[in-house]
Amino acid sequence: MTSIKTRRVKSQELFTEAQTLIPGGVNSPVRAFKSIDGSPIFFKKAKGAYLWDEDDNRYIDFVGSWGPMILGHADADVECALKLALESGTSFGAPTRLENEMAAEVIKLVPSIEMVRMVNSGTEAVMAAIRLARAYTTQRNPKQTKIIKFRGCYHGHADALLVQAGSGVATLGLPDSPGVTASAVQDTILATYNDTDELEKIFKQYPGEISAIITEPVIGNAGCILPEPGFLEFLREICTKNNALLIFDEVMTGFRVALGGAQARFNVQPDITTLGKVIGAGLPVGAYGASKEIMSLVAPAGAMYQAGTLSGNPLAMTAGLTCLRKIQSPEFYQDLEKKTLYLIEGMKAVANERSIPLQVSSCGAMFGFFFSDKPVRNYEDTKYVDMNKFRNFYLAMLDHGVYFAPSAFEAGFMSAAHSYEDLDQVLKNFGQVLTKL
Ligand code: PMP
Repeated sequence: MTSIKTRRVKSQELFTEAQTLIPGGVNSPVRAFKSIDGSPIFFKKAKGAYLWDEDDNRYIDFVGSWGPMILGHADADVECALKLALESGTSFGAPTRLENEMAAEVIKLVPSIEMVRMVNSGTEAVMAAIRLARAYTTQRNPKQTKIIKFRGCYHGHADALLVQAGSGVATLGLPDSPGVTASAVQDTILATYNDTDELEKIFKQYPGEISAIITEPVIGNAGCILPEPGFLEFLREICTKNNALLIFDEVMTGFRVALGGAQARFNVQPDITTLGKVIGAGLPVGAYGASKEIMSLVAPAGAMYQAGTLSGNPLAMTAGLTCLRKIQSPEFYQDLEKKTLYLIEGMKAVANERSIPLQVSSCGAMFGFFFSDKPVRNYEDTKYVDMNKFRNFYLAMLDHGVYFAPSAFEAGFMSAAHSYEDLDQVLKNFGQVLTKL
């Protein structure tokens, strides 16, 4: 049998060309496969749990466009709704009924949100959330401007948050980015996820200066790292005690770890929530929401300025709404979680049989694994991960037609379209690959 690798000729050719046209040949860094010394695959088609590359190789996909495709690719209902919407025009730059419907749906599903503003990406949502937090806290106290961020959490590429971010930044080993000035990050304080003592110290060190803590409630941009019991509750308490706001960046966890996001799953209410990915079902959408009191600061209701030519775009709203309406059956998340556990526990068992140290974790329909003999409770612990093993594992799985995220620092995503046959296939391939590692 010819291996998939030897049949990835067109991807190679396209990548060679792309590198002359686009920086690094890609429109987002982690797509370049740099951390595993590979060459990216150019895809041309997706359906359900599968992707097809330019050479017609098929892959079982656990990237799901980095999270949005919870229904699987090219979902028939989303496609049908989009085709209909297309006939009515692609953008009006004016209010639509769809935006009311989307806002109502989000408010209904996400516990802490009473009002919501749609934007076009997760980065935009987080930028606005930070501005909103500062606008809120400086009303009372002009000095309350600092933001605490955890190492390894990625919150998009806004300057103030591009310090020790996970995701592509971790993958490329960049501590931050040239072009981000010292003044842009001077109000950003770095902290260690799951470390409550350090947070106590930070609040003591900067009395009356912390505007907000921002966190991924479950880290998905440094693998998949769960909050220890009580950690999110602690964040809520320390923010409340210090009149600071708690921001949950649920761009990844929203509608992913539970219907109402991590805040519903862990029963901890943030002050501001950011959303993205699933809410757009594969079209460019982000959102931020909070209580009516906080959201009333946003222009034109209030003075905090934030705007967008394509915000609330009718196609994006149509795709997102169709998806949100489909994921509300009680069994939807139970099924996803069962499949996620089946895969991740299966991988753990396969690794155990071969005495290969593997840490696994999952939350709802997201999961992660590290080739490490030490548990990973934060970004600092990822230094023990065997990167070489990950690289060899990754490239070999690819040759078996299994597409995980091309980095040890990214979460994997289960979709409604994955079947147990797909998962059995992956586990079988995983065994074959580990035997040769
Ligand atoms: N926040 C989190 C938690 C994310 O995972 C991401 C993207 N992976 C972002 C923000 C940025 O979103 P976008 O890529 O849509 O700008």
